[in-house]
Amino acid sequence: MPVRLDKLISSKTPFSRTQIKALIRDGRVCVDGCTAVRPEEQVSPDAEVAVDGRLLPAGEHCYLMLHKPAGVLSAARDAHCRTVVDLVPEELRRKTLFPVGRLDRDTTGLLILTDDGDFAHRVISPKSRIPKVYLAQLDRPLEDSAVRVFAEGVILADGTACLPAKLELLEGAPPHVRVTVFEGKYHQIKRMLGAVGAGVTALHRERIGELSLDPDLPPGACRTLDLEEIGKI
Ligand code: URA
Repeated sequence: MPVRLDKLISSKTPFSRTQIKALIRDGRVCVDGCTAVRPEEQVSPDAEVAVDGRLLPAGEHCYLMLHKPAGVLSAARDAHCRTVVDLVPEELRRKTLFPVGRLDRDTTGLLILTDDGDFAHRVISPKSRIPKVYLAQLDRPLEDSAVRVFAEGVILADGTACLPAKLELLEGAPPHVRVTVFEGKYHQIKRMLGAVGAGVTALHRERIGELSLDPDLPPGACRTLDLEEIGKI
């Protein structure tokens, strides 16, 4: 059933009705590639709506890929620090947006933001066995034997047992490794590498499931995920 254009934009963005009217009046809104002229225009709920050339998320929920830069908190909001949600451009920001899992403040790379709690739960849950792939730079090289320790399941310093994980020792200096884990414990990668004797000097998440960080997305930038990409997670 068709819906009013201003109502559709309102359901997907934090803009007020007055702001939406102004956006349409100023020619900043396109519906299926044509500039919209009336806020009360009836459009299909599946219409491709763009504000300033940026496509609004299709469907009920919103799924964004963010290239998290270092120095930003993985939280929806914080009284003192800039958060990952603060990096989302206004036209993509929904009131209920939150990060799917956490990356440490100094970790960079792929972070998904959504307003879909069930989806987030599925991605985070160790039961789903969704791989999360990290590139870690180390303060010293690791022995080959660490690969087997990871495959058997690292025991952290506090006795916590991790699920079996994949460790790849990569060529080149400074020493660096690729780690694939299937769960998301607090500081997991740093603590796992610490358990085999190496300190992490930089950490970057490359992939969640089969979804890799878009190489065209610079640090701090984000974009909507399409259905095919959501399916890759
Ligand atoms: N493991 C860590 O130690 N830190 C992160 O940010 C993510 C995984």
